[in-house]
Formats: sequence, C-alpha cells, structure tokens
Amino acid sequence: MIANIINIGSELLNGRTVNTNLIEISKELRKYGFEIDKQISIRDDRLLLYSELKSVFDNFDGNLIIITGGLGPTEDDITTEIVSKAIGAELILDTNELQRIKDYYLSLNRKMPKNNLKQAYFPKGYKIIINNNGTASGYSVEHNGFDILVLPGPPTEMLPMLKKYLKLYNSNQLSNYTLNLFGKGESLIETEIRKIDYNRDILEINTYVNNGIIDISIEYNKNDEIYAFEIINLLKEKFKDEIFYENLNTVESEIVKILINKRKTLTLAESITGGLIANRITNIPGASNVLIYGGVTYTENSKIKELYVKKDTLDKFSAVSSEVCEEMLIGLATKYDADYRISITGYAGPDAGDGGEVGLVYIGIGDNFENRVFKSHFIGNRERIKNYAANKALIELLKLINKN
Ligand code: AMP
Ligand code: MG
Repeated sequence: MIANIINIGSELLNGRTVNTNLIEISKELRKYGFEIDKQISIRDDRLLLYSELKSVFDNFDGNLIIITGGLGPTEDDITTEIVSKAIGAELILDTNELQRIKDYYLSLNRKMPKNNLKQAYFPKGYKIIINNNGTASGYSVEHNGFDILVLPGPPTEMLPMLKKYLKLYNSNQLSNYTLNLFGKGESLIETEIRKIDYNRDILEINTYVNNGIIDISIEYNKNDEIYAFEIINLLKEKFKDEIFYENLNTVESEIVKILINKRKTLTLAESITGGLIANRITNIPGASNVLIYGGVTYTENSKIKELYVKKDTLDKFSAVSSEVCEEMLIGLATKYDADYRISITGYAGPDAGDGGEVGLVYIGIGDNFENRVFKSHFIGNRERIKNYAANKALIELLKLINKN
C-alpha cells in the first residue's frame, strides 16, 4: 500500500518547529504495511496550498494521503477550505461537532469564539475522527479511489487520531476465508498446518472446533489476496478428503437455505439423536417450508409402528444396523412424500444393548434415486456422541443436496 504525507504550516519551513509529525506518521504507517513514496511541507498560503494539493490529488494512484496542520480556528488555518476546493466537495456543517466544540468551551467556562465555527465544517462525504484532546476534529474523505486523511497539527492530538483511523482502515481491509472439515481430529490438523511454510506476518490461520466440525479460518489483508489463495489452495489439496464445505455459516442454515431455493423438502426419523436434528433444522427461520416430518422412533416397537421396520430385520440384525437404518428410510418414504430423508440409529452409551459397541452409529441419507447408509464410530459421552452423529448426518445431507 502506498501513502503520501503532506504537512502544512509555515512554522515547519521557517525554522521554528521540527516536523515530528512526519516521523510519527511514518512509523505508524509502516506498522500497517504502507510505503511512503512522497512527503511535502507547505506553508500557510492559499494559492500555493491549492495548487500543491490539486497536483498531488490529481496524480496520486496509491491508497492514502495524510494531511496534517491548519485545522485550527485562526486566519491562517485554511486546510479544510482548500481540501474541499481541490476535491470539488462542498463544505457541510456538522451540528454534533459544533455542539462538541461549544461544550468544550463551556467546560472552560467560556463562550465559543466565532472563529471556531469553521472547525465544525467538513467536505461532503467526510467521515469524522473526533479529537478528544482539542477542538479540531479530523476526517477522512474518499476521492478518486483513495482516502484523504486530514488531522490537526499538534502531535498530542494528531497521533491518537491517526491510530484510531489506521485501526479502522486495517479492519476494513481484512478478509476471511474458511474451510470446513469433518472426520479428522483437530490436533492432527493443527500439526499439519504448522508444518506448512507460510508467512505468519501476512496470514493468520486459526482452527475452531465444534463436535467434529473443524473450521480452518484464514485471515488476510485484501492486498495479499493472491498470496492468501496460494496457501488456501495448498490447504484445500492437503485436506481434500475432510473438507466438506467452504465459508459455511452453520450446516443446518445452509441446508434450509438450499432446500428453500430448490423448493425441496425433508423428513427425518431419529433414534439415537432423539430429535436433535429436527431441533437444529427448526431453529432456522423458514424451516417450515422444508421440514415435513421429524419423528423420534426410539424403541423397536415405534420403529415397527411408525416406520414399518420388519420385526424380522430387528431380530436378525438388531436396532443398530445398516439394515434397520435403511428400512427406516424406506418407511419414511412410504409415510411422506419428500425429496430428502435422514434416518439415524446408534448406541449413545454408557452401555450398548444387544452386545453392540457404544458410539456405533448408522446414518441413512436418501433422495428419490438412492438410499445410502454410513457407518460411523464416535467416542465420548452420550451428549458428545449424539452431537457428532447429528453433525455427520447433516453434513452428509448437505453434501448430497449441494451436488443435486
Ligand atoms: P495547526 O494545526 O496548524 O494549528 O498547528 C498547531 C501547532 O501544532 C503548531 O503551532 C505546531 O506547534 C504544531 N505542529 C503543526 N504541525 C506540526 C508538525 N508537522 N510536526 C510537529 N508539530 C507540528
Ligand atoms: Mg498552522
């Protein structure tokens, strides 16, 4: 990023004041990755100031021009007047700012002198930067695709305002890209990310976990987009088996959004998750357009009565089996006419019936072409196993509806 600095004030050119603002600004700008390719000092003279500012503004193709000085109330403080002329923007009275200046004088037991009125005027399009240490507030204004930042001369006033502005400027420049993964532990993924040789000053990579879903968040400055995508593509290649989505909000909100857009519907038959999936879907506004039915068929008898699962199948394979899971899907299809179906059955623990293993879960995902059953094994307590199972079921559904 490129910046120019313009320091205004006759005192800078007649030996009275050292231009310390230049040094302070340069230091701050470097922290944010700006390169300064030009600086000028100009004395308080209308014609000279106008021609210099106009020429810099017209020829600048960087990101930021910082101007200091000449925001005071006296006759020789003409910066705002000339900036507004040079960019062709009219001056606008900011009544809040006028009140703030009046209050400032009130706090000193004085009436605001008439001269200070001009400090409440700003060029149209301005974004104010309040001066907490004096009367002259600063502002930034966009012009020809770059920002012009105007700050008062006194260093104790200028510096905090500059810092405030740069913080905001930087946060506006930040972009985020997130890869959503499932099916591998967080520590394994973190170890692999740590092995990658990327510039830590340019990219910030963090991982966040939620019941088996791992988000890899990549934060970067908009100017570093090309480099950021080199690393993002590397991550995509490295974790291609685990990435199920990119820039996901939540799985359920994405499912509801896609199904609404495609005018498709969903039914659910939940055993192990006890309605958790239905609950998550119905937390999303608009779910009533999508979810036709969600049943908790927790006992063998309810699987037989509600989903027409065969007694034979239950006896032969047990309630936690691929066969029962698929019959639950078929039962849903018989019961309700929907585009997509989820069935889920498993052992949440602490003890598994039928000699089965705690954490064994079968998830059935069906559309009107195919039924698929996924076998998973989750570890942890009841709640964790239920949450992992619900996540896996929703992720498999999302993958399917996103493909169709
Ligand atoms: P002004 O905003 O032009 O009214 O400036 C007020 C006072 O701030 C001046 O009298 C100087 O003492 C100080 N000042 C202005 N510009 C600078 C600068 N570039 N570096 C250091 N001090 C400055
Ligand atoms: Mg001055």
